[in-house]
Amino acid sequence: MQSTRPNHDAAPSASSELSADREKLPGIKHIIAVASGKGGVGKSTVSVNLALALQQAGYRVGLLDADILGPSVPVMLGLPTGEKPETTADQKIIPAQRFGLKAISMGMLTGDDNPPILRGPMVGKYLKMFIGSVQWGRLDYLILDFPPGTGDTQLTLAQSIPLSGAIVVTTPQDVSLKIARRGLRAFETLNVAILGIIENMSGFTCPHCQEHTDIFRRGGGERMSIELGVQFLGAIPLDADIVTGGDEGRPIVANKPSSVAAKAYVAIATELIRRLEELPTTVLGAFVWNWETNDGEPAWMDRSVRPMGSATTPVGFRRRDPRTLSVLWEDGRSDDFDVRDLRLACPCALCVEEMSGRALLDPKSVALDVTPQGITSAGNYAIVFRWNDGHSTGIYSLKHLRALAERFAAKVVEDV
Ligand code: ADP
Repeated sequence: MQSTRPNHDAAPSASSELSADREKLPGIKHIIAVASGKGGVGKSTVSVNLALALQQAGYRVGLLDADILGPSVPVMLGLPTGEKPETTADQKIIPAQRFGLKAISMGMLTGDDNPPILRGPMVGKYLKMFIGSVQWGRLDYLILDFPPGTGDTQLTLAQSIPLSGAIVVTTPQDVSLKIARRGLRAFETLNVAILGIIENMSGFTCPHCQEHTDIFRRGGGERMSIELGVQFLGAIPLDADIVTGGDEGRPIVANKPSSVAAKAYVAIATELIRRLEELPTTVLGAFVWNWETNDGEPAWMDRSVRPMGSATTPVGFRRRDPRTLSVLWEDGRSDDFDVRDLRLACPCALCVEEMSGRALLDPKSVALDVTPQGITSAGNYAIVFRWNDGHSTGIYSLKHLRALAERFAAKVVEDV
């Protein structure tokens, strides 16, 4: 289908070694969120068919139904529901396999007639389990069918998973475009790249006479992509076979590959692969770093530094000494932070009054030898410190960290 078709049988080459340190999670090269501003726009249908189109192009693909409260992937793929998935000896969940895809969904655990009633933190707990405790094996793409909307659950998800990027599904009506636009902005604030917009239910081609009718106002997705400067990945027409195929566990890409809609999915998959190849690759992978033992120290990617790179994208973290955290930025600058200075600059609600920005933390209350116990990445946009004085609520966005670096550097100049 395209020139980048992978050869999984080949022995590992230098380039695959190189790409290994760019994996988003161990064994998983790309994690892609499929999101929408609201429900019913066809987001799950797109997730399933896009995953299949990528799989048919020769890639190893997983599908995670992150719509914990309204899972629809099992029905769409024709997976058994209400049966506990098998586990390995080390208690990892074995994902279901269908049409060559690996898939996991809350619906597989609970069954269709028992939608789970879960509070927010439990939703997060299940999602963490689906990412961390599922034996995905090696994947080129893990597609996440996000819950609809742009509320807390979605933001928590985007913050806790190192996403390669997000796709936003919309329909041509203006109202849903407005909501999708809000979704785009939410992702941008979390440093999640927008891979593009898909316009679903875009016009109707009569199966008998082939006449095309625009049922909704046409081209909204494309207009929005131009307006917001993001890629338009493509449009999928309204097609009754998508509905029946979805209801009967026969997704259109697998069941009617020569249909206009299936071909539209394949074209979108090709565009998506191209887009991912163009993405900057300097974002560090996820890390859980024990400061004391230095276990899990993130990479220091000197070779990736580009002079025109981003000022707020770190390409290296290092423990210079037990009291100094060094950060290397993509624009080539590196900063040394005294760890106590970082503790004093904690931006959490216990340390800074949210409305006024007034400092609540008394510097005298922070021990001179305070040190981090651990530092963890939060999605693509922040790091989180766990301090040895028990404090662990501070999320340091990369923007905040860079601003601190500049503030501390200016202070040193003043003091001199
Ligand atoms: P969401 O995940 O956004 O809530 P779904 O994927 O569950 O939406 O789709 C909602 C309904 O719309 C389903 O019945 C699905 O079969 C149907 N649907 C999705 N895309 C299309 C399309 N292109 N043409 C016709 N029906 C579609």
